[in-house]
Amino acid sequence: MTALTLADILDARRRIADVATLDTPLPPSPFLSRIAGDDVLLKLEIGQATGAFKLRGAANAVLNLPEGTKGVTCCSTGNHGRAVAYAARARGLRAVICMSNLVPETKVAGIRALGAEARIVGRSQDEAQVESLRLAKEEGFYEISPFDDLHVIAGQGTIGLELLDRRPDLATVLIPLSGGGLAGGIACALKTIKPSIRVIGITMEHGAAMHASMAAGKPVAVTEIASLADSLGGGIGAENRYSFELCRRFLDDVVLVSEEEIYRAMQVHYHEDRLVCEGASAVGAAALISGRLDVQPGPIATLITGRNVDMKVFTDIISGRDVHLGDTTLKGHHHAA
Ligand SMILES: *Cc1c(COP(=O)(O)O)cnc(C)c1O
Repeated sequence: MTALTLADILDARRRIADVATLDTPLPPSPFLSRIAGDDVLLKLEIGQATGAFKLRGAANAVLNLPEGTKGVTCCSTGNHGRAVAYAARARGLRAVICMSNLVPETKVAGIRALGAEARIVGRSQDEAQVESLRLAKEEGFYEISPFDDLHVIAGQGTIGLELLDRRPDLATVLIPLSGGGLAGGIACALKTIKPSIRVIGITMEHGAAMHASMAAGKPVAVTEIASLADSLGGGIGAENRYSFELCRRFLDDVVLVSEEEIYRAMQVHYHEDRLVCEGASAVGAAALISGRLDVQPGPIATLITGRNVDMKVFTDIISGRDVHLGDTTLKGHHHAA
């Protein structure tokens, strides 16, 4: 059984308003609407103070901490780490973000600029994770999971409330999928309010842990492969408590997109929608353009989840240049309207 209810999500909306930006814009995309043959709306989470939706969940977790918590910790230097740092500072709480010495200096500086302590431990993410657990066990810190925490999931779910408040006629919602906190929370809100709505998780073709786990019927590990949708990498945890069940219960489908499709969709969001967004944000458009989506008639919303993209990669893509991903090269091509 999943413990998350609509009441938790409504409660999160009341709590997080002072820290996260609520009711983010939902403009139409004329280009994608032409392709889909129905209204396509873009839910713009790129305007959050940290550049990504994860602030909603982190804010809700920070506002629901157990009595006596000394501070918060996690070991992400990506959108979750930024969100935890920002939300903690907003509440005058200490945040220690654990990371390995492989993390690039710009990311370390980014976390420090948000007022958190960057603690460099070991030579791998696993070693950093050990320190984060130790802080939780021995020093009274609370470790905030990026996706497998009910308060985090309820915080992300507030996006679902906003979508239906603005557009009760929405027929399909496309959600970038990684650990499944975002999709689980939003789908719970959407399906509880409007059971007929279709909710589709979208993720990259290679290294998609939630997709593999749903297919296997239990959490499984996958090999990580460099992707333009870098925010969608990582596992779901062998001991997954919430997000796996929520995704299994509430998602109608999970669709995979290729790196070439993500490249093209980032060009479309830039040249047509005039958006700077990261690869993870473009998977919905990638799926729409691929024509492989099973949408029902009526308006479609796709989530533009974040804008924290490497600007060298981004400018290469919008200029149609080749992009190197691990040991493969994505052949450049120009956007043709
Ligand atoms: C974390 C993240 C996602 C996926 O969220 P999950 O809850 O892990 O599924 C999508 N887009 C961006 C930009 C993210 O940072």
